[in-house]
Amino acid sequence: MSSGQPADNLVPADDEVLFLPLGGAGEIGMNLTLYGHDGAWLAVDLGITFGGDDFPDHPILMADPAFIAARRERLAGIVITHGHEDHIGALPYLWQRLRCPIYATPFTAAMIRGKLARAGLDRDPVIEVAQGERIAVGPFSVEYIAMTHSIPEPNAVLIGSAAGSVLHTGDWKLDDRPIIGRGYDHCRLHGLRAEPVLAMVCDSTNAVVPGRTGSEADLFKPLVAVGETARQRIIATAFASNVARLVTLARVAASLGRRFGVIGQAMERMVAVARVTGYWPEDLPALVDGGHLGHLPRHEVFAVCTGSQGEPNSALARMARDAHRDMLLDPGDLVIFSSRVIPGNERSVERTQQRLRNLDVGVITDQDALVHVSGHPAAEDLRRIYNWVQPPLVIPVHGTPRHLAANAQIARSSHVPEVQVVGNGDLCRLSHRGMRRLGRIASGRLSLLPDGRLIPVADDQLRSMRAKVL
Ligand SMILES: [Zn+2]
Ligand SMILES: [Zn+2]
Repeated sequence: MSSGQPADNLVPADDEVLFLPLGGAGEIGMNLTLYGHDGAWLAVDLGITFGGDDFPDHPILMADPAFIAARRERLAGIVITHGHEDHIGALPYLWQRLRCPIYATPFTAAMIRGKLARAGLDRDPVIEVAQGERIAVGPFSVEYIAMTHSIPEPNAVLIGSAAGSVLHTGDWKLDDRPIIGRGYDHCRLHGLRAEPVLAMVCDSTNAVVPGRTGSEADLFKPLVAVGETARQRIIATAFASNVARLVTLARVAASLGRRFGVIGQAMERMVAVARVTGYWPEDLPALVDGGHLGHLPRHEVFAVCTGSQGEPNSALARMARDAHRDMLLDPGDLVIFSSRVIPGNERSVERTQQRLRNLDVGVITDQDALVHVSGHPAAEDLRRIYNWVQPPLVIPVHGTPRHLAANAQIARSSHVPEVQVVGNGDLCRLSHRGMRRLGRIASGRLSLLPDGRLIPVADDQLRSMRAKVL
């Protein structure tokens, strides 16, 4: 393809790999990245982002897939790295516009199938891939490389083609004691330095954090110590999809001699998926039904619930409003936020915490004790992986401009020869000669209305969102 070619006729050639992020470059959320080669396109992830407190009129946003929807006969498939909402959340809304196979590992596939079924889709477009497996998708080969993160089965994908390959890391950390799952594939990552990798497209979420990200296994002792201070109920809130965290919390409860259960639909659903996919250890004590927890003696209760982001309809927000059907909190109960606040949710979280304090309920956050670890690589983790893979080119993604700049700086100081920071809609050509920008493709975002329609969000609103993340 020549750079003068209009985007309308854009057909990837057989001697190039095209790279086109439509979401997730310059922001955290709504990931959608396209790769083009030999007449075909491949999409990696299809996620949503939450409008949060700043955009209450736009609670759910996603990348506008118009570019790829207009040429969907060339879309060979959607490759999903892992099951977080910013990677799979848009599938129920956008799959109808794309109608191609969706590739995912078994745990992620179970999450996607549940979502599509709840959205009323009666087809099953999901093809399961094992971690470590390499499959053919159109003219691409796609290899799933096991990583560690804050959900079961996170993967990097090595997108291979006759013109070279790209390592798309997805979300990751280097956790040597991940509690569940097979761990990250150090051997395979290290082996990539001997292969024709054109570029590494890499998670930047924690690039501004020095040092290394802690392990899930670091949390058990501090959580037990916090739990030992509690005389009445313990309620912990965490991201439902962090199955390793739920397992740790269940073990903390057992160690404290308390009965354990989960409250909230998302939590119950996730435990069910974890059970059928083999991620719920069989040695854990049986879960107490969420509806019964509120009626047990208070000092016996350890419950985990949704609502770590202050979502108004979550179990925790209802408890804080003294309006939960099954669990009314009393003075002296303790709530542990085993989570971080996603930027944009500060006010909702603060509101929930204040309501809890007004009920004389204790509140412990990651500011008070080691009750949360991140799922993303800090600076030293990034240095390590760059040293293993030794890519000729790094493209930081999955971060605000500040995170991308920090990751770029780390890559440069790790002797990566070329580093390129791109934004949504930047069409780039990757080759052994490096990266070249070919031009801009119209990109934007869609907002989900309460009636299910998707509407483009106006440019001025985009600018104010950008201002927020800067
Ligand atoms: Zn993500
Ligand atoms: Zn993730």
